Amino acid sequence: MKLPNGQTAFAGVLGWPVNHSLSPFIHNRWLEQNAVNALYLPFPVQPDALGTVLLALPKMGCAGVNLTIPHKEAALDLLDGVDETARRIGAVNTVVMRDGKTYGHNTDAYGFITSLKAADYCKDNALVIGAGGAARAVVTALLQDGFACVTVMNRTREKAEALKSLGRAVEVVDWQPVLPHADVVVNVTSLGMHGQPELSVDMKHLPPHAVVADIVYAPLETPLLVQAKAQGFKAIDGLGMLLFQAQAAFSLWFGINPEVTDELRQQVLKQREGV
Ligand code: NAP
Repeated sequence: MKLPNGQTAFAGVLGWPVNHSLSPFIHNRWLEQNAVNALYLPFPVQPDALGTVLLALPKMGCAGVNLTIPHKEAALDLLDGVDETARRIGAVNTVVMRDGKTYGHNTDAYGFITSLKAADYCKDNALVIGAGGAARAVVTALLQDGFACVTVMNRTREKAEALKSLGRAVEVVDWQPVLPHADVVVNVTSLGMHGQPELSVDMKHLPPHAVVADIVYAPLETPLLVQAKAQGFKAIDGLGMLLFQAQAAFSLWFGINPEVTDELRQQVLKQREGV
């Protein structure tokens, strides 16, 4: 890596905590590969300091930042502008600084749908399992992609009902161990993550062409994906969503669409082992 000089720009991620973030690794690799004179840094920002930090950064030559827990929702009211997708999702994960002002975007929906495109899928009916923060981005992505029906199933039914405001094609079913028929199934709960119980479901009603996606990426092969593959379904892991949301953010800041390659996937996984 070249040493920073008087022209070096910077970007980063604001979170509390932020030390687990893989974004510095991903973005600094792309900066180096694309010969962009900039650095991407992790910034630990306490919740009550977010407003002050977002006011100061554009006045310091910052190109933009990612926001992670707990800042994604709070930022909506602190920025000069928020785009339609982020407003719909109710969360900002990417801020672009321009002319001393801050503009909020959400690249998670793009990240998810781009990762899903590694499979051929039918757009009749998607089943989304979970209704937390990430679910809003995934449901928005599926609706924007043209799914005729997006069914949400969550342990706490009221939270699934709240997602109906995202579009008329959103339906809700009770939490049930036997999955209803769906062309695409997406796990957006934290079940299956390291340290969490697995998501235990019966896939007998899924058609042979069904695609099963899991946005959890630690582990990369969740028990749900292992089961899906064993039953002959196409499986999509959560690392693609992470990398493609980063790709869209990088492109917003630096005007370059960086490559998401298998080599990068392997390097990120290796890096994760060390975090
Ligand atoms: P969140 O807002 O905390 O939501 C958690 C969801 O999991 C809720 O629907 C919750 O149901 C459900 N849940 C938790 N424990 C459960 C249990 N024992 N039984 C049934 N349901 C349970 O989290 P989030 O921000 O949406 O993130 C969810 C997962 O997605 C995390 O693992 C996160 O790492 C991953 N993620 C990945 C990416 C990526 O780029 N790949 C991006 C964002 C998030 P209740 O509503 O009933 O509590």
